[in-house]
Amino acid sequence: MTSPFLPLIDGFGRVHTSLRVSVTDACNIRCRYCMPAMVNSFLPQSKLLSFDAIERIVRVLVAAGVCKVRLTGGEPLMRPDLDQLVSRLNRIEGLHQIAMTTNGMMLAGMMDRLVNAGLTHINISLDTLREEAFRQISRRDGIERVLQGIESALKTDLVVRLNALVLRDINLEDCIPLVEFARDRNIFIRFIEFMPLDADRNWSQDQVVSGDELRARVETTFGLLTPLGRSDPAQPASDYGFADGRGGIGFIDPVSKPFCESCNRLRLTADGKLRNCLFGREEWDVRAAIDSGESDSRLYEIASDCIKNKFAAHGISTSSFQQPERAMYQIGG
Ligand code: SAM
Ligand code: SF4
Repeated sequence: MTSPFLPLIDGFGRVHTSLRVSVTDACNIRCRYCMPAMVNSFLPQSKLLSFDAIERIVRVLVAAGVCKVRLTGGEPLMRPDLDQLVSRLNRIEGLHQIAMTTNGMMLAGMMDRLVNAGLTHINISLDTLREEAFRQISRRDGIERVLQGIESALKTDLVVRLNALVLRDINLEDCIPLVEFARDRNIFIRFIEFMPLDADRNWSQDQVVSGDELRARVETTFGLLTPLGRSDPAQPASDYGFADGRGGIGFIDPVSKPFCESCNRLRLTADGKLRNCLFGREEWDVRAAIDSGESDSRLYEIASDCIKNKFAAHGISTSSFQQPERAMYQIGG
């Protein structure tokens, strides 16, 4: 069947096939690189896009060539009955991957429902194995629950990866134990550089630990890493293998080595705004269009306009860079 919509191609020829859907801005922890210590209020239920609306937008975007969706937040598992959304998305022809990024705390109790609903990939964030460092980063207790979540995911057939973020003053020493943890379970761990998207606006270059610095540390302990190449040129991580073939490691370096030229992502916020970049300062209101009864063609036009207005690059290192108004948990990481 031919699609009614043309692919979403921006002014620099980038074809957009990957969508991040934030299902909530709420979270059960307060990572200092993302959220403020105190949040006055999260979006009320009435402001969150309904599952009907999310499914409709995803259907339109899949008709325009999107083939991967990642559910995120806030903490996506804070959204009740998330498996029902997964199951609705799983019925969309042409959508090949339904992934989720989670802090893992509520995962153990939801794992079976998510698998049965059709989730295909799961990234679990894990920045440390030490309770004290977990508390320092997330301002909450609960590392045990995260670890239980990881073990429950490992019992499934899903593709499981770990995501780690290193802050120089807090968890630099954790990178080696984290790599060991991933290798013991024969899974991938990816380190992502700290980006200026924290609600506290405390980001500074000295807290960023670059992928190159981490790779040098890891090689000191585990020997030379072998570059694995990129099967998908749009994937932001540089992945490496270990000499003994156990596990794998990737570095996502948006600060030290921006990968904007191959970016294929667009984002839908929990309150129904489309964004063409994490660092964009403009949003396109699809929620308002749905509420006023607009057609699928109009939703496509809004998405197309959003993509056509995408900048070439985020420009974090330029003097004119301004941190976006919304923080990571409000956009969807
Ligand atoms: N709550 C879920 C979680 O933590 O996995 C999903 C949402 S969270 C915003 C998604 C990812 O964004 C996490 O892996 C987190 O480490 C990362 N993240 C949050 N703030 C960030 C920042 N300022 N720079 C880089 N990555 C960040
Ligand atoms: Fe919550 Fe994820 Fe942000 Fe941490 S990174 S505060 S877990 S949304």
